[in-house]
Amino acid sequence: MQYVVITGGVLSGIGKGTIASSLCHILSNSGVKTSALKIDPYLNYDAGTMNPYQHGEVFVLDDGSESDLDLGNYERYLNRSLNGDNSITTGKVYKEVIEKERRGEYLGSTVQIIPHITNEIKRRIRKVATDQDVDLLVIEVGGTVGDIESMPFLEGLRQLRMEEKGNVIFCHVTLIPEIGHEGEQKTKPTQHSVRMLREIGIQPDILICRSKHYLSEDARRRISMFTDVDKKAVVSVYDVGNAYEVPEIIEKQGVIDIIREKFSIPDEPFQDIWVDYKKKLLYPQENVKIGIIGKYTDLHDAYMSHKEAFNHVTGSTGIAVDIKWIDADTVTDETSLKSLEGILVTPGFGYRGVEGKIRAVKYARETGMPFLGICLGFQVAVIEYARNVLGLKDANSTEFKSDSKNPVIDILPEQIGVTDMGGTMRLGSKKVLVRDNTMAMELYGKKEIYERHRHRFEVNPKYIEDLENNGLIFSGTDEEGIRMEILEMKDRKNFLASQFHAEFLSRPLNPSRLHLHFIKSALEFKQSKIALLEGGS
Ligand code: GLN
Repeated sequence: MQYVVITGGVLSGIGKGTIASSLCHILSNSGVKTSALKIDPYLNYDAGTMNPYQHGEVFVLDDGSESDLDLGNYERYLNRSLNGDNSITTGKVYKEVIEKERRGEYLGSTVQIIPHITNEIKRRIRKVATDQDVDLLVIEVGGTVGDIESMPFLEGLRQLRMEEKGNVIFCHVTLIPEIGHEGEQKTKPTQHSVRMLREIGIQPDILICRSKHYLSEDARRRISMFTDVDKKAVVSVYDVGNAYEVPEIIEKQGVIDIIREKFSIPDEPFQDIWVDYKKKLLYPQENVKIGIIGKYTDLHDAYMSHKEAFNHVTGSTGIAVDIKWIDADTVTDETSLKSLEGILVTPGFGYRGVEGKIRAVKYARETGMPFLGICLGFQVAVIEYARNVLGLKDANSTEFKSDSKNPVIDILPEQIGVTDMGGTMRLGSKKVLVRDNTMAMELYGKKEIYERHRHRFEVNPKYIEDLENNGLIFSGTDEEGIRMEILEMKDRKNFLASQFHAEFLSRPLNPSRLHLHFIKSALEFKQSKIALLEGGS
């Protein structure tokens, strides 16, 4: 088993996740069976209880793990599904060690960071490597070298390098600032951050330098000289328009050859499976304006998987998605919606923004504008329909009004009395049955599909008949037919919503069916508007 460890220096937020994912992509498309592991040095057990404003969206895996959004990037770049083992946090490591101590498994010894915590870190890393039938594991260490929290992880990885002689490579990602009129590329921060790594006993093998422009020959030479990293192993990743271009940039600089020099991995050429995808993504022929109505619109990473699903749609259709971020609280009338060609109502928790989301659904339903609702977006579509079509003016979700007279959305029975917040929702991949003769069947083309979930509330079974008698169609349900999973409207092709999160399984060459259909519908909507204008002139 071989390991490529990615650390970060100088600053956070310089694209370490994209670089780790790109390496995964290059390796897995060069004949190397690759998986990825993320180390998050925070104390939370997982990302499940975190506000999206902290680290962006909470990404859900097949096994129901609520993880950091980087796991989503790995899945998309690897085209492989991961599980909870692919994410390690300080919380997971300490919980395990303390539980073992309580069971008396340390036989009376003093439990310490070295060796007990570092051993647990290495055990978890090796477990992924052996369980997942791979040749190589890319390990990304969150945070920046020098952070107190990441110290035990770096120490564990240093030990791993010693124990797995010749099978661990360290790759350090740094920032090269450019200053002055000439945009001189400054290497000092990189030198310092490599020095900090060396102080803890880690000499990097590869440096990936983020900068605005391609790294100059002179900067490369200086970096190499001061850091003892081969000049050809100093790789430049300059700013590009789209993150999907990064693998090619890295690959062209021979990274795979540098890894091959150190490791015995298959010697196959890199297959760029994204050529056509990137062509459509970078040079789209059409475009549509989509409003994303959400509560965390100031941080676009809070909706990362939707943005990515739209990229996947663009890469397969050549229709670019121009996203308008709309804070749900500001949707008090149709002003911000009028110029759109499609409305996406996002997942979410809590009441804030819900009335704005309901208004957005109403607008889409009444005007014929394409609509896609996901999770809470699905639930608010039901509330809107109940209020404005069925005339149940006080229809609501018990999440927002516990004594609602018309609780069209209610808590899942098994969630009643659940008090712990972390990892207790209806989570992960579940079978969904698709009904014949529906739009959903047209899109999925099969009776049984699997999609990922994350919710505590559902459509109240008591209202289903009434809703269906009034033109709403539940075209997907769970296996028992009790839980509603997909909704659409009678005689309407562009109004769809799902209780599940279709965005999490969207992949570059296999876009989410719901997002794909939504964007195609938006283009049709736009073209019909144009035709109307032309007809009127
Ligand atoms: N808050 C809703 C629920 O718990 C929707 C969750 C979501 O959008 N992920 O059911």
